[in-house]
Amino acid sequence: MTSSGRRRGRRRSGGAGAAAPVATPSPQVPSPFAHPAEAEFARILDFYGIQWQYEPRSFPLRWEGGQIVEAFTPDFYLPEFNLYVELTTLRGGLNTEKNRKVRLLRQMYPEVRVKLLKKRDVFRLLAKYGYGPLGPDDMPEVDRVLISPGRLQQRVAELAAEIERDYAGQPLVLVGVLRGVICFMADLMRLLHLHADIDFLAISSYGAGDEKGVRIVKDLEEDVRGRHVLLVEDIVDTGMTLNRVLDHLEEKGPASLRVCALLDKRARRLIDVPLHYVGFEIPDEFVVGYGLDFRQRYRNLPFIAVVKHEHLP
Ligand code: 5GP
Repeated sequence: MTSSGRRRGRRRSGGAGAAAPVATPSPQVPSPFAHPAEAEFARILDFYGIQWQYEPRSFPLRWEGGQIVEAFTPDFYLPEFNLYVELTTLRGGLNTEKNRKVRLLRQMYPEVRVKLLKKRDVFRLLAKYGYGPLGPDDMPEVDRVLISPGRLQQRVAELAAEIERDYAGQPLVLVGVLRGVICFMADLMRLLHLHADIDFLAISSYGAGDEKGVRIVKDLEEDVRGRHVLLVEDIVDTGMTLNRVLDHLEEKGPASLRVCALLDKRARRLIDVPLHYVGFEIPDEFVVGYGLDFRQRYRNLPFIAVVKHEHLP
């Protein structure tokens, strides 16, 4: 938040593989930060699983007699976005000085991407990279982001490419299981350069574990006899739901029946069900977002996030 020299040497990385802080913690602002706004920014980045480095690099701006007499050290570097971030307050004087330095930095190092960010702009920046619309404080039951919007989009595109290769020239029917599949289905189908009809099943589950039963509450509207069917699922946990749905679809006599699941909680499987295409294998956590809910909330998050254990039944 302030000029560079004062804090040189206190560097820290966050997100995956964070290094240990090296400065003595102060009671108000956690180490290594000099300002509460920096600690808050790091907390938000950690929540989203976005990697960060704290003051990793100083950029010399002015020399006198071969000595560096002015430098600028942006507060953060976000490697995934290849972006340096300098946080600003609303106080005018300091900002004028920062603006001058950032302008100079951009002129002298045109390859470096740097952004001056006010507190209120943090979520606007994150929204630009696909993280919005809610901030951590709007999601009290959510612990952290597990799969970022970028990784989701990339993997969905890879799955679409695989499916396209396998079904080349053959029309297919995509069957989604409501409601958790909506985001995945919508993204996947738009990437398939194939003739693909779509249809949906709705189910209701009752009981739990071995006693779990699944009832079809909305059946297909398309006749799938003799057609290639690709069942699109949000998440496979014990496998009970998928097993029941596959039995139901088999009875309709499709030419072929395959499964594409976005998420696979393989460690919890009770019934061995065939998954032909899998987006991500995930740990035994209850997840929300990208169509998946917790008590009907959080379906509209553009990422997959983990629900805090204390909120689960
Ligand atoms: P299974 O029958 O495989 O045990 O469970 C599959 C269904 O349980 C999914 O279609 C989904 O509705 C629900 N489910 C299982 N795990 C999760 C999870 O982590 N989050 C959410 N939101 N739903 C889940």
